[in-house]
Amino acid sequence: MKPVAPPQTYRVKSFGCQMNVYDGERMGELLAEHGIQPAAEGEEADLVILNTCHIREKAAEKVYSDIGRLVAAGKEAGKAPLIAVAGCVAQAEGEEIMARAPAVSIVVGPQAYHRLPDMLDRAANGERATDTDMPAIAKFDALPARRRRGPSAFLTVQEGCDKFCTYCVVPYTRGAEISRPFAHLVAEAQKLVEAGAREITLLGQNVNAWEGEDEKGRRTGLGGLIRTLARIDGLERIRYTTSHPNDMDTDAGRDLIAAHGEVDKLMPYLHLPVQSGSDRVLKAMNRQHTAEGYLRLIERFRAARPDIALSGDFIVGFPGETEAEFEATLSIVDEVRYAACFSFKYSPRPGTPAATMDGQIAAEVMDERLQRLQARIGHHQHAFNRASVGRTCDVLVERTGRHPGQCLGKSPWLQSVWFEGTAAIGDLVPVTLAEAGPNSLKGVLA
Ligand code: SAM
Ligand code: SF4
Repeated sequence: MKPVAPPQTYRVKSFGCQMNVYDGERMGELLAEHGIQPAAEGEEADLVILNTCHIREKAAEKVYSDIGRLVAAGKEAGKAPLIAVAGCVAQAEGEEIMARAPAVSIVVGPQAYHRLPDMLDRAANGERATDTDMPAIAKFDALPARRRRGPSAFLTVQEGCDKFCTYCVVPYTRGAEISRPFAHLVAEAQKLVEAGAREITLLGQNVNAWEGEDEKGRRTGLGGLIRTLARIDGLERIRYTTSHPNDMDTDAGRDLIAAHGEVDKLMPYLHLPVQSGSDRVLKAMNRQHTAEGYLRLIERFRAARPDIALSGDFIVGFPGETEAEFEATLSIVDEVRYAACFSFKYSPRPGTPAATMDGQIAAEVMDERLQRLQARIGHHQHAFNRASVGRTCDVLVERTGRHPGQCLGKSPWLQSVWFEGTAAIGDLVPVTLAEAGPNSLKGVLA
């Protein structure tokens, strides 16, 4: 590659999970520290980072179509941007990307992006650079202090996964489970609040596996961390995602459940994926929990916090899934009455055990099951919203609406709420929920 002028502006495009959104923000903060500024709206950036997701095939393929678009736009403008591929596709397919996409200068894995500035120097000299090492904690230590502004912020507390569900690439792309140190997290939360955050969502692939030592050197789990963060003045709301059922059946898990009944700032919302309602499928997925065990866990959360809203993840069409097994998934949706859910067609991922299992399900069967599942989920989501009508709650204003005098924000149960009135972004205002749609509610300032 020819040497190029060092980039002055950047754009990060993040795909996939909230942890990628967090990583994308951290890359931006790191680049800003090195004098590279975000490109203005509508302006071509000198450096484009595609922060990719490998969880399903469609998500992974997006990277190649995006690279093609960037190359074409660069030709038209007479100035090609420097292209970096980050995230889980970079980790899993780094060499393939370099071979298949000559326009890519940098491939950097999710645990190595703190070394981007060095890689940019090498790219400016015409070298192509790849770094897919996994020094997870070193990354956090090397990143600059938070600069991000905004009422609602993400904070990664835990990374990686040791669970090895048979369909999933995360243990291979994000590495083993690690917990960031307690003191670093309290300091980062404090910075976010100083910069205007009123809500923090703690993130992890298995966030409830987080463990550490508190300020007195005592072992503690996520509940202990949440109790400490709740003492930060100005922080009004705490959320966490994604939890794994198996990490709830420990002392730390029990303490987290108890925290829902004791910590006012901990929002009444739990994202707890179950994936399937069939014990045979769960076993083949290596989930190590049963449908019944999951339902008992939900009961314990409801006992601690009766109004808790529940959400989950589901996969339809796992290899060998029969119609009766799929119906068991519909039944669990009816039993839990979720407020929201994510549901996916099974996507065989290279290198995972399920990709070579017998009984791969035909695409049309998966399509049909997904439609039925989503209709059932939508029914319960709408019912949950309708049951909220008449409640008065605080709404955290996140943006103003399309029409003047309209505000949009989130209820404690993570519902989107819009109302008419004047409020500033970041205000917590009391709103009475007045009308329920399937995906949002209309409120009236109380
Ligand atoms: N660790 C979390 C858990 O196990 O509950 C989930 C993290 S994963 C990044 C997010 C979701 O993607 C999973 O809950 C699962 O529903 C979905 N997913 C993962 N691998 C998939 C695959 N191969 N095909 C379809 N969906 C998949
Ligand atoms: Fe993937 Fe399972 Fe780990 Fe979740 S627990 S990240 S689904 S391997």
